[in-house]
Amino acid sequence: MQLKIYNSLSGEKELFKPLKEGYVGMYVCGPTVYSNVHLGNVRTFMSFDFIFRTLKYLGYKVRYVRNITDAGHLTDDGNVDNDRFVKQSRLEKLEPMEIVQKYTVDFHKVLEMFNLQPPTIEPTATGHILEQIQLTEKLIKDGFAYESNGSVYFDVLEYNRRGLNYGELSRRNIEELFANTRDLDGQGEKRNPQDFALWKKASPAHIMRWASPWGNGFPGWHLECTVMSTKYLGEEFDIHGGGMDLKFPHHECEIAQGKAGHGHSPVRYWMHANMLTMNGQRMSKSTGNYILPMQLISGENNFFEKVFSPSVVRFCFMQAHYRSVLDISNEAMLAAEKGFVRLMEAVKVLPTLPISEKSSFDLQTWKKTCEEALTDDFNSPILIAQLFEIVKFINLIKDGKETISATDKEMLIATLNTYVFDVLGLEDNQQNAQNNDKLDGVLQMLINMRLEARANKDWALSDKIRDELKALGIQLKDGKDGTSYSLE
Ligand code: AMP
Ligand code: ZN
Repeated sequence: MQLKIYNSLSGEKELFKPLKEGYVGMYVCGPTVYSNVHLGNVRTFMSFDFIFRTLKYLGYKVRYVRNITDAGHLTDDGNVDNDRFVKQSRLEKLEPMEIVQKYTVDFHKVLEMFNLQPPTIEPTATGHILEQIQLTEKLIKDGFAYESNGSVYFDVLEYNRRGLNYGELSRRNIEELFANTRDLDGQGEKRNPQDFALWKKASPAHIMRWASPWGNGFPGWHLECTVMSTKYLGEEFDIHGGGMDLKFPHHECEIAQGKAGHGHSPVRYWMHANMLTMNGQRMSKSTGNYILPMQLISGENNFFEKVFSPSVVRFCFMQAHYRSVLDISNEAMLAAEKGFVRLMEAVKVLPTLPISEKSSFDLQTWKKTCEEALTDDFNSPILIAQLFEIVKFINLIKDGKETISATDKEMLIATLNTYVFDVLGLEDNQQNAQNNDKLDGVLQMLINMRLEARANKDWALSDKIRDELKALGIQLKDGKDGTSYSLE
């Protein structure tokens, strides 16, 4: 079966032809580790985890590179003194590399909780300063970049003058871009506002700095990804992924750097994952419209009426295609939990089903439909819909209304386990989910008992309940809408 991938560059689904038969090189932009990842970030990384798992399932040997951006990402205001790490280190009174370490650990912990597989290589920007300086020198030598006041910029107009086409990924017209840009981070150093930094001069306040031919400074964010992707995957590689919001300018700049630096476009298939929204608005740190994964799992939030297990979150995300927007809500999570429990029950009951001489269901055709979903641009919602067809069938066999042969049963157990656990990456923590519901019931009971104690002015009992729960790591919070709890 042939894999089709939607290529953001062409805007079409294309037949996937890897550079080297049987092998795939995939690069995904990793996190900027200056704060905790929110659930929206998790969605993008999970989308590519599903793609990574599917490619392996289809038999490819995948080299999956996902970087850690630990230097060079400026704040949205473009102020050079406000590199995200430097700004956060001032706020938390930590060394920038302590900030990097703290949030890299958090990132790994969160992804592990959602059962994401680690990439095969995870390079850091600070580990590749030398290569970034080398590529910058080459771009200057070839006339694609210029030094200005200790910083180096990519010359977008020169790039276009040579017939290369800046804006091809985001389909932006360069004149339009020039008209609409404010010079935020160039401070008058750039020839044109669209020119982007390859290297930035460090101001005296900037503590993350490296020596370079242009003085002390730090690398540009776009250049980091070009250097790390090509170092480990080659100057041309198969797949480059990231969130939709990185298309412009980040990925546009990567294309320009690749074409100017290596003579050709670096990527064969550009893949962009769509956004997670909450209350219909994109989840984002800067607007405050976000939830941290731990807040969802522990119940420490005002948005969801109960706690949900990481597998239910994963199931909810997998129910949407990676290119569709997904809005997270209490209702969506409750529905996902129901579906997840139904699926897990069927997986568990399948080995106990009686066998018959013949199956009353065409399993080969079903399996083919599942494979078609996977190879049609990684269509997880259609795969899940097919899994529920088989759940129906399993439940009918249990009721004696359908039959399954011994060989089909064996095949179905193996196939279902592969799709559910290996490809979708779900984990059977249904027992945990059920235990969570029980724990929730017990805690509500204790909260009510404490309320009664307070109504009876039995402060000793009320305090005892609160203190003993606290000792167990469960914090009660009294608010205007009643008492809630959170797990530490
Ligand atoms: P950052 O650490 O800001 O570079 O973001 C890490 C990844 O998360 C990038 O690929 C972003 O595109 C992605 N991302 C940011 N916000 C969202 C969102 N609301 N939904 C899905 N992905 C997101
Ligand atoms: Zn990147």
